[in-house]
Amino acid sequence: MRRVEKSSLMSHSEAHIVLLAPLTGPVVPLANVPDPVFSGGMFGDGIGIDPLEGRLVAPCDGVVTHLARTGHAVTLASAEGVEILLHIGIDTVELNGKGFAPMVEQGTQVHAGDVLIEFDQDQVALTAPSLVSVIAIANSDAFEVLERAPAGLARAGETRLLVVRARDGVSHDAAREASAAQVVEEARRQITLTQPGGLHARPAARAREAARAFDARVEVRYDGRKAAIGSVVGLLGLGAGEGASVELLAVGPQAQAAVDAVAHELTREVHGEVEQKPARQPAAAAAAARPTSGEALAPNTLAGVCAAPGVAVGKLVRWDDADLDPPEQASGTSAAESRLLDKAIALVDSDLDTVVRDASQRGAVGEAGIFAVHRVLLEDPTLLDAARDLISLGKSAGFAWREAIRAQIGVLSNVEDALLAERAADLRDIEKRVLRALGYTSSAARVLPDEAVLAAEEFTPSDLSSLDRTRVTALVMARGGATSHAAILARQAGIPALVAIGDALHAIPEGTQVVVNAGTGRLEFAPTELDVERARRERSRLADVREANRRTSQQAAATADGRAIEVAANIATLDDAKAAADNGADSVGLLRTELLFIHRPAAPSADEHRQSYQAIVDALAGRTAIIRTLDVGADKEVDYLTLPPEPNPALGLRGVRLAQVRPDLLDDQLRGLLAVRPLGAVRILLPMITDAAELVRIRKRIDELAREAGRTEPVEVGVMIEVPSAALLADQLAQYADFLSIGTNDLTQYTLAMDRCQPDLAAQADGLHPAVLRLIAATVEGAAKHGKWVGVCGALAGDPLAMPLLVGLGVTELSVDPVSVPGIKARVRTLDYPLCRQRAQDALALDSAQAVRAASRATWPLD
Ligand code: PEP
Ligand code: MG
Repeated sequence: MRRVEKSSLMSHSEAHIVLLAPLTGPVVPLANVPDPVFSGGMFGDGIGIDPLEGRLVAPCDGVVTHLARTGHAVTLASAEGVEILLHIGIDTVELNGKGFAPMVEQGTQVHAGDVLIEFDQDQVALTAPSLVSVIAIANSDAFEVLERAPAGLARAGETRLLVVRARDGVSHDAAREASAAQVVEEARRQITLTQPGGLHARPAARAREAARAFDARVEVRYDGRKAAIGSVVGLLGLGAGEGASVELLAVGPQAQAAVDAVAHELTREVHGEVEQKPARQPAAAAAAARPTSGEALAPNTLAGVCAAPGVAVGKLVRWDDADLDPPEQASGTSAAESRLLDKAIALVDSDLDTVVRDASQRGAVGEAGIFAVHRVLLEDPTLLDAARDLISLGKSAGFAWREAIRAQIGVLSNVEDALLAERAADLRDIEKRVLRALGYTSSAARVLPDEAVLAAEEFTPSDLSSLDRTRVTALVMARGGATSHAAILARQAGIPALVAIGDALHAIPEGTQVVVNAGTGRLEFAPTELDVERARRERSRLADVREANRRTSQQAAATADGRAIEVAANIATLDDAKAAADNGADSVGLLRTELLFIHRPAAPSADEHRQSYQAIVDALAGRTAIIRTLDVGADKEVDYLTLPPEPNPALGLRGVRLAQVRPDLLDDQLRGLLAVRPLGAVRILLPMITDAAELVRIRKRIDELAREAGRTEPVEVGVMIEVPSAALLADQLAQYADFLSIGTNDLTQYTLAMDRCQPDLAAQADGLHPAVLRLIAATVEGAAKHGKWVGVCGALAGDPLAMPLLVGLGVTELSVDPVSVPGIKARVRTLDYPLCRQRAQDALALDSAQAVRAASRATWPLD
């Protein structure tokens, strides 16, 4: 790392300032200096010299404001305030002073031509990668280079090397004050992009945010290309996919911290991230997934890739994707067009802000994330600069915007990474939004017939958000991938969707009847009566089963021989609470509170907590709610909490452990929880508890806060069993807890040492692994010693093959997604408890999760 002190000299001059060559040797243009930190201008504008003599002299009169401890670099401040960095050789800091003899000290007043450093050329040349030295204007924001010496030999103290001048409008006093006593650092780091998809939009946006917190300019370099961290579009254009090794470079007072923060963002995986790697079948394989000529495909059938499962029958409707067509030439002045563009962008930004908030409120984290990225793209400097350039050439705002976007789409489409190329759809989306905001209209508002199977080249997220979802029965796309944002939204909306069907899709005439079977990846056009009939039957059979289950879902569930099982719902929002009640959940078994406040700039106050929970309790109409305290950290992030990077966040300050560093957050939440009425409607659940001492400490705090609130009635406190230690110590925990709730998602991750977000391990990270089942059995036994009940709120509770075994192990509450409640209740009613017990004991002795699944399926077949 190089360090250069900046000066705080105070003097004024608008004159040209001449800097003489500080070294003798051939002039090297800055771009040719063999170090990207210098050649990229990150230390400021300047020039290089390949020295022929071992003497560095002052290029002008000035003060030595910094002398590197290792004697290889010095910074001078001229009387006018120009800060000149003189750096001998490349990576010479590594020589640790060997071969350098400084002739000045920090604070020495020098005259042009005075010797600053003598160095042993041969020694330095032998050990450093290059002797090429740099003369850079460290405060290039305040001074610009007007002239530089042409190629040829420069003579130390004689040749005019650079002429600089103060930039217009820059207050030098202010610039100097701002930079006074600051330290300019340079830092670089090579990282490997391990996360699925590599440098895609979400991590790029997060890295940009992370870098903003620091005073440093950061660049990402890959494969001979570079992009400023502020330009997500530029970062995507690097095409750095999974496994790519990229270099991070930063210059500024906080360079190292900035590089570390960016590295952290680019190397970690965030659960629920919208751009998941396609499971096993990458989007790039979309074309390959279509049958080749050798493969038999039924007549009138096209193949695609499943983006959202389901069966649908309907009429093909071409989603008129006619381009919005702004005129090329501006009708007003460039300034007026620029203002129009700014206004349109501001409008779209505020619309998107509302969309993000709404989606967050609904707990639609994926959707919120998609549009949050669109907001970032909207202010991307690469796009804005390109559009403004075109406007200054007399183009209209709309035309300039469209061209700027299309140029970037061109770049992304050339990237050999399907995941990144898919992000072109996001750019198309903001293209349309801004053009609409500029007053250009399209068919977005058109009325659809019933049972419309919408066809398009590729849908954009905003196409889908403006659709009448009640009339759309399926979506089919010529392009796109299973990971495109439109695919994610289709899955969330429960609309079957096929992508990557190819151009043949466009040949199907509008209005043709089609059958979509997304599960098998087939689109049948002009199907026979029989095909239609079969598809309708399958669709209606699935709908009938759902309907029959719903009819009995409001009644309590018990096994056929009478063992009562409470079927509760996992919720995250007020809408979910309504859905839970509607689907017949007996209670709420888990409210994930972190999702209620995910996209907020500040932590919620105690009263905001209270209001949110009160609204949910009211919507539950008498049902109880188990409300979990904030479980942030690891794979769950909230905007208002920027936790310091952790090397291993899943094993770090997550769940209740966060209270060790931010006790105020837990206190405010507990105050809000304790204030909800009626008393008794709420039970508190503590995530990531490790042992009884931790539980006792938090219970004590809950009691104190309850007393402060004047509450005398006890509040029930439960513990999540997510960590193997908690399962093993369940008897101790049950002594102090009112109930235990097993979080099988985390318990599986920590028992099997398999990251729950690692797609390559998704099939193996199965909660039916006998090791996990044994910990569940130990939990129930431990709880039974103190007469406490045990529930399961992890995904295993809603797994039809796992659920009978959980019942057999003694679990009496299953908390599942609201829509799964009717089906799980129906299945509970078919069970025989003694048989469940027997099969559960057998399962504990099996040797793999697959064996357990097979045994369960044999006893309790799926529908
Ligand atoms: C779990 O870990 O199983 C659980 C329910 O908690 P979450 O999925 O929110 O981590
Ligand atoms: Mg968990």
